[in-house]
Amino acid sequence: MTLKLTNQGGCLCGAIRYQVDATPFDADYCHCHQCQKSTGSVVGAWMDFKGEQVKWLTQQPKEYASSEHVRRGFCQECGSQISFRDLRYPEYLTLSISSLDEPNTISPNYHIYTDSKLSWLTISDELPKYSKNRS
Ligand SMILES: [Zn+2]
Ligand SMILES: [Zn+2]
Repeated sequence: MTLKLTNQGGCLCGAIRYQVDATPFDADYCHCHQCQKSTGSVVGAWMDFKGEQVKWLTQQPKEYASSEHVRRGFCQECGSQISFRDLRYPEYLTLSISSLDEPNTISPNYHIYTDSKLSWLTISDELPKYSKNRS
């Protein structure tokens, strides 16, 4: 997992742009239903930062409560989902790997919520797999 010291990303339409000035301290695939529904994809791929390592260059994502403690952020113009925050861990901010301009620079370290992985999706890597959240 490597990342240039300065890297940028944003939503599909460009209304939201950000810069990260650090390598994410972790990254994962999430197979939970909420990631499937909200991203419109079969699996979410996320990278974790400390909040102060993410600088919004334009507007910030619009957030909604996807569960009691979780706020998911998206672009109000194009609907791209970009961010994830857990209110119980306010120092952290999670961004979608695919929102990076160069998403190949980050790869997930493990899979979580594989209990809800789609049956026709085959995981061919050797990364650790957790049936629920990693604890
Ligand atoms: Zn957008
Ligand atoms: Zn998830």
